[in-house]
Amino acid sequence: MTTIEENLKAIKKQIADFEQKYGRENDSVCLLAASKGQSVEKILHAFQAGQFIFGENYVKEALIKMTALANVPIEWHFIGAIQSNKTRKIAEHFAWVHSIDSIKIARRLNDERPHALPPLNVCIEVNISQAASKSGIAIDEVFPLARYCLSLPQLKLRGLMAIPTLHKTFNLQRGEFHKLFSLFKTLQKEVVFLDTLSMGMSSDFEAAIAEGATIVRMGTAIFGSRN
Ligand SMILES: *Cc1c(COP(=O)(O)O)cnc(C)c1O
Repeated sequence: MTTIEENLKAIKKQIADFEQKYGRENDSVCLLAASKGQSVEKILHAFQAGQFIFGENYVKEALIKMTALANVPIEWHFIGAIQSNKTRKIAEHFAWVHSIDSIKIARRLNDERPHALPPLNVCIEVNISQAASKSGIAIDEVFPLARYCLSLPQLKLRGLMAIPTLHKTFNLQRGEFHKLFSLFKTLQKEVVFLDTLSMGMSSDFEAAIAEGATIVRMGTAIFGSRN
């Protein structure tokens, strides 16, 4: 077995164990392989080991990989910061976007999504730790943006995403994810039912699963360090 195969197997086992440990349903947590800085060969390896969902952060890098892997039925998710001059390529080439953080980006992705494709699945990225340096929209702007996304026919609002401040201890990590979970529940109650909570990375995915993550995004734990 290759290392990527072994890593994927071990991570899937951990995810299943954490689902059980925290009273989550079996298979309620989906694994996204964050493949920025990883080679086409490694992505193909992971695909051959049963991984179908990959997340990329940079449009140019992603398009090169998509071209090389054109015959491989990967579901591509965009998880990086979105510059407005990149929205067309994102709208044309991805199935999901996790990182919508403004009305303007939402409108552009909607307008540029080709009509031949199904609506683009989107999550709103929330600046849950309220750190000035962090990406994502402020908490009090989430509901207006969610309502706006719901009005756009070429977008399908799926949920929320966050990259909280990385704490060392489990309880502090869990506290950050709990904030996003609470916001998600309120949004579900007051605005619309949503099915996706995209949170947790290689170093904090247990805390994210404990707090209701439905997609964990993991890179280094699967592929090793990035180029
Ligand atoms: C790189 C990245 C990840 C994965 O990070 P790892 O620490 O390698 O697991 C997850 N989410 C986003 C948005 C990323 O940019």
